[in-house]
Amino acid sequence: MSQEQVIELTEEESSTQELARRISNQDLAPMADELDRHEQFAHPVFQKLGEAGLLGIVIPEEFGGADGSFLSAVLIMEELARNCGGTALSFGAHAFIGAYNLFKFASDSQRKKYLPDLCSGKKYAAFALTEPENGSDAMGLRTRAEKRGASYILNGAKTFITNGSVADTFVVFARTGDAGAKGISAFIVERSFPGFASGKPMEKMGMRASPTTELYFENCEVPAENLLGAEGQGGYFALEGLDMERTLFSGLPIGLIQGAFDVALKYSTERSQFGSKIAGLQLIQAMVADIGMNLFVSRLLAYTAARKLQEKKRVTLNASFSKLFASEASVKSTLDCIQMLGGYGYIREFKVERLMRDAKLVEIGGGTSQIQRLIIAREIYKSHDLSP
Ligand SMILES: Cc1cc2nc3c(=O)[nH]c(=O)nc-3n(C[C@H](O)[C@H](O)[C@H](O)COP(=O)(O)OP(=O)(O)OC[C@H]3O[C@@H](n4cnc5c(N)ncnc54)[C@H](O)[C@@H]3O)c2cc1C
Repeated sequence: MSQEQVIELTEEESSTQELARRISNQDLAPMADELDRHEQFAHPVFQKLGEAGLLGIVIPEEFGGADGSFLSAVLIMEELARNCGGTALSFGAHAFIGAYNLFKFASDSQRKKYLPDLCSGKKYAAFALTEPENGSDAMGLRTRAEKRGASYILNGAKTFITNGSVADTFVVFARTGDAGAKGISAFIVERSFPGFASGKPMEKMGMRASPTTELYFENCEVPAENLLGAEGQGGYFALEGLDMERTLFSGLPIGLIQGAFDVALKYSTERSQFGSKIAGLQLIQAMVADIGMNLFVSRLLAYTAARKLQEKKRVTLNASFSKLFASEASVKSTLDCIQMLGGYGYIREFKVERLMRDAKLVEIGGGTSQIQRLIIAREIYKSHDLSP
């Protein structure tokens, strides 16, 4: 199924999609199994993405980016995830919640200092919000930042941070004031700052090509000029960035479905049982119909959210619809793809089981499915001028 059936792409979007597909098929696909098996980060692929200008896809050209559309960003996610969910996850953590959030909330001098290296791939970015005691309730975070002279001193820990072991540039949220969102500030932290350390990558079920670590701040000294915006704006930044994150990351589950579906569809036309192709069996066709519909609706929701984001419209409801639907569709559809392959679907030789393991994360990261349902219900009541 081609994306064009869902929405008309601009020339820039089509060529970005083609470029990302080429890098994904030529550079990423051949190493994807090994990355998963040995929990390795795809440095060579990131370097290719940097050379092609895709790491700074939504960053303006003056800061080293490609000034592409949000839909282009969704399409890159899709193309990477077709072959490796972990590489797509690390790409999104670098390019969207790392570099783009930095662009959005930084001063021009901070942008000039950090963004060109992030767009070229000389350095990688990460976004550090979640803490051991605060995940869904992120605004309850406890890491403290105290102003001392020309620095802030950070103490605390973060957990589940994508790219934690490979990034040099971290967007970190810490408490400078009272409890709640208004007491939070955001900082740019460099790996080399004294008192900063990252833990060993956590061993995971899926997304194994994406390193996930804890971060530790022990009297970590951050120059005051690395504060993003003003003190107390961090909570607003984190919440404001979520609509963009949920929209652009929707490309990831879509790519996982497409990658598994490509394998399962072809297999169904090659495998025969009871003297005829399994593609001719109506119970197999029922799965094909469901997966095709899941892909179409996921794309419709993600692409329309990306277009609205481009038009600077409020996309909270659309972004949560998109994230929730595509995430759950990817778990269900990749499982169906395994089912279409029978015993072979359970064997590592076919990438379908890997993409299924990758898919489970998308129901958790960036706000769980339960949290998406709470947001959706809240938005629906609000739009009817009602309160639950
Ligand atoms: C591989 C991976 C990569 C990640 N990358 C990053 C990253 O780069 N940066 C970052 O900051 N974070 C990252 N995260 C963290 C991720 O965003 C959190 O794991 C997620 O928000 C859930 O938080 P939690 O794990 O603390 O679960 P909890 O918040 O403890 O939730 C546990 C369960 O309770 C449910 N629950 C919680 N509150 C409610 C409620 N009010 N109503 C109903 N149900 C509720 C949840 O849905 C879930 O089922 C990553 C996580 C993983 C696993």
